[in-house]
Amino acid sequence: MNKQDLHHFKQQLLKLQQELVAQDRESEESTRPVNLDQSSVGRLSRMDAMQSQAMAQENKRRRSVQLVRISAALERIGEEEYGYCAACDEEINRRRLEVDPATPFCVACASRM
Ligand SMILES: [Zn+2]
Repeated sequence: MNKQDLHHFKQQLLKLQQELVAQDRESEESTRPVNLDQSSVGRLSRMDAMQSQAMAQENKRRRSVQLVRISAALERIGEEEYGYCAACDEEINRRRLEVDPATPFCVACASRM
């Protein structure tokens, strides 16, 4: 992978990182703890609120996993290991990196996991 490619993927990763951080901030503002007080809301809307909170938590968990992958990928760029599979050292298909620039594995290794 040449310098230009590395620069391209670095920009992609930084953009993703920014988006995830912004989403985190947004969801923190919109998800307040569920009020379980029986008198304040009906049973159904309480379940709705709990469900959407569970969903928000799941999304948050996914974002933090993704952020870890992204910072690991940025580290690999710094160490000039980016674009090579972390398991078998083969070059990762470029199209695969375009779809998911944070992926540390080639198709073959990823499908074995
Ligand atoms: Zn591999």
